[in-house]
Amino acid sequence: QQIHAPDDLKSLLGEIHQQAMKITEGHVADYIPALAEVDPELCGLTLATLDGEVFNVGDTQEQFSIQSISKIFGLMLAMERLGEDLWDRVKMEPSGQAFNSIVQLEWEKGIPRNPMINAGAIVVSDVLVSRYSASKNAVLSLVRTLCGNDNVYADNIVHQSEKEHGHRNAALAHLMKSFGNIDADVDELLDHYFWQCALTMSCENLARSFTFLANDGVCPFSKKSIMSKRDSQRINALLSTSGMYDQSGEFAFTVGVPAKSGVGGGMIAVVPDFGVICSWSPRLNSFGNSARGMYMVRELANRLGLSVY
Ligand code: GLU
Repeated sequence: QQIHAPDDLKSLLGEIHQQAMKITEGHVADYIPALAEVDPELCGLTLATLDGEVFNVGDTQEQFSIQSISKIFGLMLAMERLGEDLWDRVKMEPSGQAFNSIVQLEWEKGIPRNPMINAGAIVVSDVLVSRYSASKNAVLSLVRTLCGNDNVYADNIVHQSEKEHGHRNAALAHLMKSFGNIDADVDELLDHYFWQCALTMSCENLARSFTFLANDGVCPFSKKSIMSKRDSQRINALLSTSGMYDQSGEFAFTVGVPAKSGVGGGMIAVVPDFGVICSWSPRLNSFGNSARGMYMVRELANRLGLSVY
């Protein structure tokens, strides 16, 4: 209990960050030049608590490519627009396959295993493009409201390069269209998907954005209700089972909180009734999760006894 005092939290974060800086394992994502060029030594750790306190250590104000973490923002809007019908088009099961795998889709007739893998997020993008007159604006305004920063944007270079190198995502979209699970024009929905992956935010922006997930759907900063308690529990359940690529089981085992990572090296971890941790460091382990991020979040969760299980 004592360790939860602000000064103790601050020094614990500092100590963990310092240890993490010694880790040099892993490789920066290099499937597009814009990601390959990021300084691998950068490392930030933010903890935003439900008391409204924000603790920052290291490179927490640097903007980075949030990549797959954006899948949560898209999902929030699609859940709101489609309600229960969304779950006829995307399931809620862990995939046990790589995040961009195509084989399962063929076996399962174009219905993706969950919204945290690429195929699932592409269906979600289809819902947004079909149901919003300006889907990018809808996402941007949600993100800006959640993090309280009106300067959040999508990086145009990352967006264009995702498009140029997005053949596998295009294959997923076309395969699903052949099964009747895509309504919109494939190029249009892929453009939305790639744009969303290119959103650029800082650790502090991200930690603030997701505090509502730790607080039954209510943002502790603005006191606004972002979604129902049930929907925020559902998102946390999906993050727990599918948020950390093929390391989700190990993450639940060793850390024990809902979390989502992205190939840009970012990760958010939701600690119900406590707050949100965001880490960022670009070198990725063999599962595609940030090596330093894994260390920092695991260490913080273990030292503070944060596992929900
Ligand atoms: N833009 C990446 C893709 O769609 C996102 C991957 C990720 O962060 O998991 O392949």
